[in-house]
Amino acid sequence: MAEKKGSKLEKKLTIKQENSWLTIDKKQEKEIYTFSESYKNFLNVAKTEREVVDFVIATATKHGFKQIEKTKKLKPGDKVIVTSMKKNLALAVIGKTPIEKGMKILTSHIDSPRLDLKQKPLYEDKDAELALFKTHYYGGIKKYQWVNIPLAIHGVISRADGKLIDVNIGEDPDDPVLVIGDLLPHLSRKAQGKRELFEGIKGEELRLIVGSRPLKTEKDAKRKLKLNILNILNKKYGIVEEDLISAELEVVPALPSRDVGLDRSLVGGYGHDDRVCAFTTLMATCELKNPKRTAMTLFFDKEEVGSVGATGAQSNFFELCAGEILERLTPKYKYSTLKRALATSRAISADVAAGMHPVFKDVYEKQNAAKLGHGVVICKYGGARGKQGANDASAEYVGEIRALFNKKKIPWQYAELGKVDEGGGGTVARFIARYNLNVVDCGPPVISMHSPFEIVSKIDLYFAYLAYKEFQLAE
Ligand code: MN
Ligand code: MN
Repeated sequence: MAEKKGSKLEKKLTIKQENSWLTIDKKQEKEIYTFSESYKNFLNVAKTEREVVDFVIATATKHGFKQIEKTKKLKPGDKVIVTSMKKNLALAVIGKTPIEKGMKILTSHIDSPRLDLKQKPLYEDKDAELALFKTHYYGGIKKYQWVNIPLAIHGVISRADGKLIDVNIGEDPDDPVLVIGDLLPHLSRKAQGKRELFEGIKGEELRLIVGSRPLKTEKDAKRKLKLNILNILNKKYGIVEEDLISAELEVVPALPSRDVGLDRSLVGGYGHDDRVCAFTTLMATCELKNPKRTAMTLFFDKEEVGSVGATGAQSNFFELCAGEILERLTPKYKYSTLKRALATSRAISADVAAGMHPVFKDVYEKQNAAKLGHGVVICKYGGARGKQGANDASAEYVGEIRALFNKKKIPWQYAELGKVDEGGGGTVARFIARYNLNVVDCGPPVISMHSPFEIVSKIDLYFAYLAYKEFQLAE
């Protein structure tokens, strides 16, 4: 006999997929909205990897974490910070179980797609009589999205005298902002109309307008507009043009995070990918008390350009952190003990998933797509063109994570990025997996990923935090 829709057997046998807003009580609702306020604040004050590192250190310090160099020995319950070149770091809470029996690891990345200033950025356009900065974009952006919006510059300049100068222009309401101007539609038909969408604005066309006023006092100067900008920078930071060569100046949207939707159920902001996971893993680990296993939470740089470089997940930082901890627990440990501590560890690669776009639904495979408001997304594999480059977590490990979330009543959903031949992407999971450990991707879904104003759901944000916390608490 055929079963009717909604029948008992159907309930027993099929996946339950409910909008999480329907299942929460008043108390949780309040917690969700309060939590999202602190997240919005974080988004506004930590827009670059260096700023996230500062935020993580400040927050962890408030929660009793100490710089590992200041400790000689570690014991269960101790909390430490391991830093690296100011652009990535790790937190650890020592557990009761010996470390060689495995740690509980959370990883996120703290770099987001953006525009970097070129090392020789400044010039003046003689015809238009404007001073401009040239940029070199970082990560996978749709270039046309970065024009006509207020932009800020964050970063550092290493001056000739060795001093590191912090730069932050465009965030204070009294600051000026910078902008990349687009061409007016009246004259765009030929110049841009025939271009493909991704080339609507080309890389070399991403140039910031930084000034329009020549320096009056320098009558003999050849480039008065450029000189005026250099003069302003010199007065403010004591720098000359050559100092910009040893600088990291990142151009990010000068837009604060905002509630989105008439029901205020969403948060819009720059760089949810992957600061939403940086923040939620940070809060989870900071609140961890006496975990059974040693909890390690890593914040990586350079994920958006392939996890390369000294501060990316392909560096030796993870192994170094484990070694730093191990030598403070067991001073005469063997190299094989370190390898075993890594290989017996279990990890969640906390990174965002693609939330289904309501208009461009065709690129998603609806049965395996993530929806905003349906909880954290477990993603067994990523990759492209037939799982190329995918970590592909084991069935056993996905089973363990699924069972944990079900037991702790954490709403979760399963998703892939999109349709099989549509495209693809990767995370740090495959680089962590090199140590022969179990790792799976898990994080909230995002709409408008890699754009200057991405969207997440407040309820997914909150349950990501709870999911990470329960993961590190569990045996
Ligand atoms: Mn990411
Ligand atoms: Mn990304």
